[in-house]
Amino acid sequence: MKIMVSACLAGENCKYNGGNNRNEKVLQLIAENETVTVCPEQLGGLPTPRIPSEIRNGIVTAKDGRVVDAEFRAGAARCLEIAIREQPDLIILQSRSPSCGVRQRYDGTFSGTLTEGLGVAAQLLIENGFHVVDVEELG
Ligand code: SF4
Repeated sequence: MKIMVSACLAGENCKYNGGNNRNEKVLQLIAENETVTVCPEQLGGLPTPRIPSEIRNGIVTAKDGRVVDAEFRAGAARCLEIAIREQPDLIILQSRSPSCGVRQRYDGTFSGTLTEGLGVAAQLLIENGFHVVDVEELG
C-alpha cells in the first residue's frame, strides 16, 4: 500500500510554530508502507514558523489579518498534483488544520472554537476522489 501523510504527523517540524505533530500510529504505518509526506502550507510558499491562520467566511486569513488564501490554495493544488502523480491508496491528514483538517476546523475567530468543515487541501483531495482520513480516525 502507498500512503500520503501530513508531514507534521511524520515528525517534520513544519507546523506554524516550528514544531510537529509526531504520531506513533502514523510512524508505524510509514514503517510498513511506501509513504509520501506533504505539508500544504510549506508547499504554498509559506515560511516556518509562520503566523497561524484560520478560515473566515471561506477565506484563509492569518491571525494578524493578512489574507493568505492564495498561498493556502496554491499549496493544496501542489498536494493534489503530488497525489495524482503518486496515486496513494490512503491519505492521512492532521486534525483541525485550515489545510489538512478533515472533519473540523477552527471557526476563523482565533478563539479556539471548532466548527464542522474541511481544510482547503483536504477538501481538494476529497473532491478529486482520494481516500482521505483524519489521523484521529486511525484505530
Ligand atoms: S499544513 Fe498540514 S502538514 Fe503542514 S503543518 Fe499544517 S497540518 Fe501539518
